[in-house]
Amino acid sequence: MRVEEDFDVKNLTSFKTGGKIKKVYFPSNLDDFVEITNTESDFQVFGNLSNTLVSSDGYDGVVVLTTQMTDFSVEGTRVKTDCGLKGPKLSQVVAEDGLSGMEFMVAFPGTVGGEVFMNAGAHGQTISDIFVSATCWSRSRGGFTLTKEEMEFSYRTSICQRENYVVLAAEFELTPALQEEIKAKMQENLNFRHAKQPSLALPNCGSVFRNPEGDSAGRLLEAAGAKQFKIGGARVWENHANFIVNDRAGTSADILELMYNMYKVVKEKFNIELKPEVRFLGGNNEKEVELCSQLKII
Ligand SMILES: Cc1cc2nc3c(=O)[nH]c(=O)nc-3n(C[C@H](O)[C@H](O)[C@H](O)COP(=O)(O)OP(=O)(O)OC[C@H]3O[C@@H](n4cnc5c(N)ncnc54)[C@H](O)[C@@H]3O)c2cc1C
Repeated sequence: MRVEEDFDVKNLTSFKTGGKIKKVYFPSNLDDFVEITNTESDFQVFGNLSNTLVSSDGYDGVVVLTTQMTDFSVEGTRVKTDCGLKGPKLSQVVAEDGLSGMEFMVAFPGTVGGEVFMNAGAHGQTISDIFVSATCWSRSRGGFTLTKEEMEFSYRTSICQRENYVVLAAEFELTPALQEEIKAKMQENLNFRHAKQPSLALPNCGSVFRNPEGDSAGRLLEAAGAKQFKIGGARVWENHANFIVNDRAGTSADILELMYNMYKVVKEKFNIELKPEVRFLGGNNEKEVELCSQLKII
């Protein structure tokens, strides 16, 4: 198994910020993962780092990146996959098999494990709509299976976030449909992205804040004047106020400070506390830690 020490993840993150991580494992399968659990007493698991802000001062601990755990199978309408497979790849494979339900996954760069953990969704579909069960792991429980009910999915969350469960593999049930219709829907989703959201050529993490109940974070931020905000190399995207883009020179501290200013202006104007969708990995930089605590970022 590939193991790296003092490994710089900056180029792996969607924001293109971050620093060195003390030790990074890249398991390829379940056996590799079990080996890590036997070797390391404490570690954090991430997928494609597409929803994670990594401290510019790095992280002084052990991280497991799952992006090489990519085995999958399709039998009839049932799809089983290891956690590290990326959504765009999986959605394209099942489209070729005439299976509908994963069209939304084509348009953003998460892994299946990250998407289950976050209950990712877009274009009227979410991972919970097609989810059957997952093989999970935690230090206290070891390996176990969670059904859809046990997963306690709701908007951008699942029990895995609350209990710190690792998702190792997942099973989905899809619906047969015409290949042309599935592909047309995927193209429509991609067209929507190109028209309404920044491409990854402008490093970004997708939506920064969750939508508060009955409203949109983008609308609130725009109405509060956040579209003009900028800190260092990080700025609010000119076409949609719930996106931060990094003009390459930005640091994670710039992004956090900008997030805090966005949060503060909405709180002042509407008395609504926006909740970040983005996750954080770090701990060495006092300013970042303080901003994360103000923003209640995990
Ligand atoms: C351009 C862009 C557009 C986006 N659009 C959307 C969108 O429309 N809808 C949407 O929902 N999201 C969107 N996202 C956010 C992101 O892709 C999703 O949140 C995705 O689910 C994160 O997957 P990941 O593998 O990159 O997770 P990471 O960023 O690696 O991790 C995110 C969180 O999941 C946890 N995690 C990751 N893998 C596992 C695992 N196997 N087991 C347990 N925990 C795990 C991590 O600990 C972390 O807390 C977008 C991101 C980008 C960059």
